[in-house]
This record gives sequence, structure tokens and C-alpha cells, in this order.
Amino acid sequence: MFFDPIYILVVAIPTAILTFWAQNKVTGTYRKYSQVQSNMGMTGAQVAQTILVKKGVRDVKVEPVAGELTDHYDPRARAVRLSEGIYRSGSLSAAAVAAHECGHVLQDVEGYKFMNLRAVLVPVVNLGSRIGPMLIMAGLILNILNLAWLGVLFFAMVLLFHVVTLPVEFDASRRALRLVNELGILQGEEQKGARAVLGAAALTYVATAFTAFLNLLYYIILINRRR
Ligand SMILES: [Zn+2]
Repeated sequence: MFFDPIYILVVAIPTAILTFWAQNKVTGTYRKYSQVQSNMGMTGAQVAQTILVKKGVRDVKVEPVAGELTDHYDPRARAVRLSEGIYRSGSLSAAAVAAHECGHVLQDVEGYKFMNLRAVLVPVVNLGSRIGPMLIMAGLILNILNLAWLGVLFFAMVLLFHVVTLPVEFDASRRALRLVNELGILQGEEQKGARAVLGAAALTYVATAFTAFLNLLYYIILINRRR
């Protein structure tokens, strides 16, 4: 299937271009604003701690984690984990990313519905991304198209997951920008830098969702060709 010209045209080439472009944009913007220190000079760790305290969240800890762009909020461990670069840096990138992760904390505290839906979908996605393509291939090889369509249904759950991720990420960034403004963490022009960093980060999620969509489209074309 990977040497299928339709696969190359519909999935491989657009996905490669899109992913490359999004990655480039993220790294470029992130590096650019990593060089710009904020007036307040708060490190990522301080930004996160300030937001959590001001928002009355007392049971979520802020800790460093290895790697670059590995920042995340772990709802089960109740921990905001910031990559070393973000944790210790007073840059605009650090403030933006730290505030974004706190946005996820606030979503969790408020029971934001898309975040709950996303959590429900996690096990389904792990199953769907493995079983979906297997069922599709088996269905095509054995010429049992209903089996292939069942695989499409499984794989559609993967797309659903990535689509549900979008409002979760956009909302966390919206909250982040509001928080850094409200709490005076970033001022005036600095907020534009934070918006650029978070906007670029959002692109990678859009690229991932679009890739899942193209894969699904390809599977549907494959099955339809069999009729
Ligand atoms: Zn996020």
C-alpha cells in the first residue's frame, strides 16, 4: 500500500509538506521568543506557580522534565511538567508555554467538556490506530468489505480524537493569553510574542488532525476501488 501512487499523492506528500512546515514554524517561533526576556523576568516555573496560586489551585505541583517541547500537564499526577528550558527561562516563550499548561489545569478544575471527551477517547485511539488499518487490510485481502468498513470506523475514532484535541488546545492558549495579561506577567508588545508562540504550537495539532483525515480518506478510496 505504501508504494501505491494514490497513497503517495493523497497522504504521503501532503503530510510530509504540512508536518515539515508546521514543525519549522514551531521551532522557529519558539527559538525566536526564547531569546526575548520579559520585563517581569519571571521564569516559566514562577509563571506557572503564580497562575496556580492566583486561581486558587493548591494541589497541583510544578516540576521540571527532561527534553525540549516536552511540557505537559499530567492530570493524574496533578503536576505541570515544564521542560528544563522553559522551567528556568524568563523568556516570552517560557511564559507562554507555562501559562498554556496552566490553561489545561484550569480546564481540568472546571471540568471542561472537550477535555473530558478527549480523556475518554484515549484508550479508543490506541486501539483504533492499530486495529483500524489491520481490519481494513484484512478486509481487502479477504475481500470482505464489511470488515474493511469496520476498520474505517475504528480509524475514524482516531480522527475524532485529534479533532477533539483542537478545541482543548485552542482554549488552553486562549486562557494562557488572558492570564498573562490579567496578572501582568507579560505587558503590551510582549503579549504578541506569546500569541505567536502559542499560535505556532497550535499548528502542529492542526497538522496531526489533517494527517489523520488524509489517512482516513485514503482508506475510503481504497475500499471504494474494490467495488
Ligand atoms: Zn496543550
